[in-house]
Amino acid sequence: MFETKDRQTGGFFIDIRLVSANTFVMSAVLPTYARIDLRFEKGQGAYLITETGERYLDFGAGIAVNALGHAHPHLVEALTQQAGKLWHTSNLYHIPGQEKLAARLAQNTFADKVFFSNSGAEALECCLKMARKFHAFHNHDERFRFIAFDGAFHGRTLATIAAGGQQKYLEGFGPPLAGFDHVTFGDLEAVKAAITDETAAILIEPIQGEGGIRVAEWRFLRQLRELCDQHDVLLIFDEVQCGVGRTGKLFAHEWSGITPDIMAVAKGIGGGFPLGACLATQKAACGMSAGTHGSTFGGNPLAMAVGNAVLDVVLEDGFLQAVQDKALWLRQRLAEVVDENADIFELIRREGLMLGLKCKIPNTTVVDALLQQKLLTVPAGDNVVRLLPPLIVTEEDMAKACECLHSACKDLRYSETNLIK
Ligand code: PLP
Repeated sequence: MFETKDRQTGGFFIDIRLVSANTFVMSAVLPTYARIDLRFEKGQGAYLITETGERYLDFGAGIAVNALGHAHPHLVEALTQQAGKLWHTSNLYHIPGQEKLAARLAQNTFADKVFFSNSGAEALECCLKMARKFHAFHNHDERFRFIAFDGAFHGRTLATIAAGGQQKYLEGFGPPLAGFDHVTFGDLEAVKAAITDETAAILIEPIQGEGGIRVAEWRFLRQLRELCDQHDVLLIFDEVQCGVGRTGKLFAHEWSGITPDIMAVAKGIGGGFPLGACLATQKAACGMSAGTHGSTFGGNPLAMAVGNAVLDVVLEDGFLQAVQDKALWLRQRLAEVVDENADIFELIRREGLMLGLKCKIPNTTVVDALLQQKLLTVPAGDNVVRLLPPLIVTEEDMAKACECLHSACKDLRYSETNLIK
């Protein structure tokens, strides 16, 4: 055991990590995460299995990343086959897997052009740069501002924490990147009032994930589209969390009947392999010529093999319909859970297999109680517990999750430390 100076409080704390039966060493990992004390060794479908063989039902799916669950045979095959051939060449050369994945994304969405990144935040960086470049290309450098929304989350880079606008993430990192105006999620009049001659784009998550599964009204998205068209402002959707089949459509905005000019995608598109993408219309991408943007790793052959394999499955006939059917089944069962445990849960927010239970007691207490039942969930803003099962989840898995919810509620109700008034 080692004593380490705690910089925030000036006190000392003991930072220990077990590496063998009787040896403790200080962790060398930067402590930016408050981690749960679990170590998983392998995954199987909707389950994660610890080093000691305990099975956890994974309704967090790596925060909406493991869209096809763990160790999906088609993804394993695609990655291992590619690993035996070629890992990386850099973007100095053409990468056939990029051409294929970009063409398939373009074919199945509003987009004409795709830039590949390694993460959601990087996909957003490309979206933001592209919107500014679009206006600069049309000799309107003064149009550099973005309208974004309260409760938003777009990543942890300097640009994306400014886009998210949340004080807790901005604190201590100097002046935020200039040019973000935040308004209330869903408030059309506030958006209208915020548009100026300097506005480059409106940036919105069709469904806020970290913000607490807050689903934008589809009518609101349509109104944003109209406003953007009236004012020569670009519309950017962040579908990093809600995209790639999670709502039962390939992308969530399809439910609204309108399309953005630019869209950020990540998480599910790589099924667990780090992959992000910025999709855009030809018009919106017009300023992004050679040299304007880049990434060493973005779109490398390994990522492309997996991304293409994910699309093979998600675009298979019937896959998205099956997600919608499962979502309906789960929603009905969760409604029973909420009704029967009205002292713990207030309501369900949901679209497809992106679900949130708004709690009447602290959401982290509920997440902890579910962990005791070996059900993994993820807390979100607005006191919500997120349920983001892999899209390959079975009815049996969902029934088990509902059982865990009922049992956790019973435990919470009778636990001495969490007495519910
Ligand atoms: N945008 C949304 C909507 C997200 O949910 C996230 C991550 O949770 C991001 C962007 C950032 O993605 P990443 O963590 O891959 O950078």
